[in-house]
Parts: sequence; C-alpha cells; structure tokens
Amino acid sequence: MVKRIILPERISEKLDLLVRLDQECSGILLYRKTKEDCPIDYMFLTGISGNKKAIPERERENLIKKFYFENPDYSGIDFHTHSALNIQKYGKKLEDFSKGDLTDIESKLKRDENYLAMLVTPKRKILYGKKAPDLVTGENYPFSEMLDKTIGMHLAYIRNNIKENLEEIYYP
Ligand SMILES: [Zn+2]
Repeated sequence: MVKRIILPERISEKLDLLVRLDQECSGILLYRKTKEDCPIDYMFLTGISGNKKAIPERERENLIKKFYFENPDYSGIDFHTHSALNIQKYGKKLEDFSKGDLTDIESKLKRDENYLAMLVTPKRKILYGKKAPDLVTGENYPFSEMLDKTIGMHLAYIRNNIKENLEEIYYP
C-alpha cells in the first residue's frame, strides 16, 4: 500500500510556478507504485482554464490509458490549482478543495478506491483520497531528471501515434 508520495523539489517548483498564474491549471502527476515511498516522476499538464490549446479530454484519456498499459508500475494523481487571484476574489475557502471538487473526487473514489487528487494553492499542497498517503516534498532522488525526460519522450511518442491511428487503438 502506498504510504508516502514523494514530490521532488523540481516538480514542486513547477507547481509553485503554475499556481502563480491567474488561470487555473490541471494535470496529472505520474508516480511510481513502489512498496511504500512512491516518487512522482513526471508532471503532465493537461489544462489551463480559458486556453483552447489544452489537450482535448478524449485524447488525454487515450494517451494516459496507453501510458499506464505500457508502464503498469505507474499511477497518477489528478492535480489542479486554485490561483492567488481567485483566492483573493472568492475568499479563503479556496485554500481548500471546493464543494464541486469534492463531489467530483467522491464519485471517482466510488469507481476506484485508490484514486488520489491534489490541490495546489500558493500556500499549500493537499492530497485527498480514501487512504490518502503522506505527501513528502523532498530533495531530488537518483535518476529523477532522467526519468522525467524518458516519460516525456514516451508520452510524446504515444501522442503522435494516437493522432495517426486514432481509429485503430484498442485497449483491453
Ligand atoms: Zn478546485
């Protein structure tokens, strides 16, 4: 069982940059399902509110499903940000998951009890799940940078293939 999620400094810093934007961002943090301490190896940004260039949902789902299929030791945490601007506008309650966020998370937890979500605000990062593991923001671990590049390349490769063979993809 996952006991600790290790968020390396380099990805923590990326999240800190995203949360400074006025728009809200969402994505997936890919972590390796090791025995207890599970390191996050990659941040996959999937959406920026109001940005039409964000990856369409269907393509994103196909992409990530295929990635998990080919890398069964990986799983993901859905993350999104609440920007400083919105916290200023709508109040401190946005330092936490909103009611809408929680409804969404609960419905996902019903389908998958291991589902994990993370909220990033300028002040903190919170993990939410049925058995939410501890979140440890630490130093970079060995091969962290290399894994980042490898996963990025693999996702780009899958994405190109999906575009070419959208009709032919079959997931067992
Ligand atoms: Zn939210």
